[in-house]
Amino acid sequence: MTRFMTRMFKIALPDGSVKEMPEGSTPADVAAAIGPGLAKAALAARVDGEVRDITRPFEGDANLALITSRDEADALELVRHDYAHILAEAVQNLFPGTQITFGPATDDGFYYDFAPTAEHGPFTEEELPAIEEEMRRIIAADRALVREVWTRAQVRDFFVKQGEAFKAEWVMELPEGETITMYRTGDDKDAWVDLCRGPHLASTGKLDPNAFKLTRVSGAYWRGDPKNPMLSRIYGTAWLNKKQLDAYLVRLEEAGKRDHRKIGQEMDLFHLQAEAHGSVFWHPKGYRIWRELEAYMRRRLDAAGYVEVKTPQLMDARQWEKSGHWGKYRENMFVVPDEIPHGSDDEADDQPILSGDADLMALKPMNCPAHVLIFKQGITSYRDLPIRMAEFGCCHRNEPHGALHGIMRVRQFTQDDAHIFVREDQLVDEIVAFCDLLDSVYRELGFDSYAIKLALRPEQRYGSDEEWDRAEQVLRDAVVKSGRATAEYGWEELPGEGAFYAPKLEFHLTDAIGRTWQVGTIQADTVLPERLDATYIGEDGQKHRPVMLHRAIIGTFERFIGILIEHYAGKFPLWLAPVQAVVATIVSDADDYAAEVASKLAAAGIRVETDLRNEKINYKVREHSLAKVPLLLVVGKREAEEGTVAIRRLGSDEHQKMMSVDAAIAMIRSEAVPPDLA
Ligand SMILES: [Zn+2]
Ligand SMILES: [Zn+2]
Repeated sequence: MTRFMTRMFKIALPDGSVKEMPEGSTPADVAAAIGPGLAKAALAARVDGEVRDITRPFEGDANLALITSRDEADALELVRHDYAHILAEAVQNLFPGTQITFGPATDDGFYYDFAPTAEHGPFTEEELPAIEEEMRRIIAADRALVREVWTRAQVRDFFVKQGEAFKAEWVMELPEGETITMYRTGDDKDAWVDLCRGPHLASTGKLDPNAFKLTRVSGAYWRGDPKNPMLSRIYGTAWLNKKQLDAYLVRLEEAGKRDHRKIGQEMDLFHLQAEAHGSVFWHPKGYRIWRELEAYMRRRLDAAGYVEVKTPQLMDARQWEKSGHWGKYRENMFVVPDEIPHGSDDEADDQPILSGDADLMALKPMNCPAHVLIFKQGITSYRDLPIRMAEFGCCHRNEPHGALHGIMRVRQFTQDDAHIFVREDQLVDEIVAFCDLLDSVYRELGFDSYAIKLALRPEQRYGSDEEWDRAEQVLRDAVVKSGRATAEYGWEELPGEGAFYAPKLEFHLTDAIGRTWQVGTIQADTVLPERLDATYIGEDGQKHRPVMLHRAIIGTFERFIGILIEHYAGKFPLWLAPVQAVVATIVSDADDYAAEVASKLAAAGIRVETDLRNEKINYKVREHSLAKVPLLLVVGKREAEEGTVAIRRLGSDEHQKMMSVDAAIAMIRSEAVPPDLA
């Protein structure tokens, strides 16, 4: 009798215990050995840090963490990827001849790009319910999702035979020698197979058939290149259970109602048009919000010891080469030739309008180099530092049209930018002071919750590792010292996410419906002062390099106002509201009185309009509440006789309140005081 020695692997679990498992066993076996509850709940496994299929055998000793639906981020990514496969299978079942390409998980679900047959053409939204039905059938069949390793040639031959030209093309571009995996849904002859890195759940039955919804269709080019064929993309949203899906759909609907583009139109704040792609036309009411916000920020900066500057819009392209921006940012810069265009009244009309060999100027994509140029004027002593140089700087970046979004993603924007020049020994305190300032600005602007994240060095970067170590540590120390390196502030570190010249702290606001927006940043930079040769004279009489802190609190006015609109759903606090009150008449007899009330309010500094139209009062109320006017002062014959107004508040069920005009003015004025002056 021969006895085979089975190799045993040591599998270490998160609680520190170690299980001995025979070769060939899988994370699913470990889960089963621990208990039937876990065996059922486990969706996938983290093996030595890598997320893997729960049925993939161990290759040796390993650290194992089982992933359940409690590990929400991992679990969501896994199920969304599964849904993408199931979507593709369902589409091919219903529409034979459709070719598959790619289908990744997204932030809220998944999509898959298909090449439909010529007869069928692109998919339509009317077809989505039938596809969802077929997906539910596949989920109910509880078919296994099985990982297989194939060779490149096998994969190509398989897809060629299946008539899958896109997949056959793609696989041949994977590097030779790379492990190529195919995922099979089902193990019968009807199995559906896709080229895929995985991982996946063990079977389709692990998904909740009521936790997904196909949402829309769009066109997308094969590999994102307009020279390639147009594919038909189907989007879906997917969650771990129906409750999550429903909550998401409500949030989506709420976000739609709050869309700044829609509210911006209803309140007559701004518009965009194709002649100025990505640049905002601010209307009087929208610009009023801007002015109030700018005045507020300016008061806060003045009080915090900043000096304000204004720097050129256009600079010689060579200046951007020196600062290192030309190489990294050139494709996003608007370039202007420094010459007078050839006029049409000239005799030689066939000349080109521009010669093509003039010097190039560039519209600034950022303010940093210009601030260093101001810093370099004259001699700076160590006693002069820190210098906090602020600019509401208007910048341009050439973003592709497809990337633009209302006033949130634009090509011309104004930052609440500042650069703080400091000595090394001042760094931590200066960053702490910034964190305190930012904290109070966010709270005063109506945001109670935000998260702080430290974005660490990226692959591509300037500067030595020692410099990066130091720069990262300074930011970390400052957040700790400010008392905010805590769970309450969502404190975490993000490897690889810093800018090419420095690590940064990011500040992510949470809005009224729980969405997050990265707005504030601060980064400690030694590279730009070096490249542009900025120095100060130290206590030792020698030249030293200052460190430069790049920082912003609200980011850009355009995007921040967009966020404010969506956060408040247009119902701004009184100090920011573009129109604070409307005096509306019930009868035309009160016209003179309404005008008198309005002029008293205006004289008291209140932003007021009158509505003397010959319309029913209910109609006026509806219209002004759509325009989100906070206060409506209704006047009729009685009010005119008594010298009073009837006040209605936007969105309040309270009955209107009668007040004397003077009392109303006093109330509005005190309510409209900006938070920093209150
Ligand atoms: Zn896949
Ligand atoms: Zn900067």
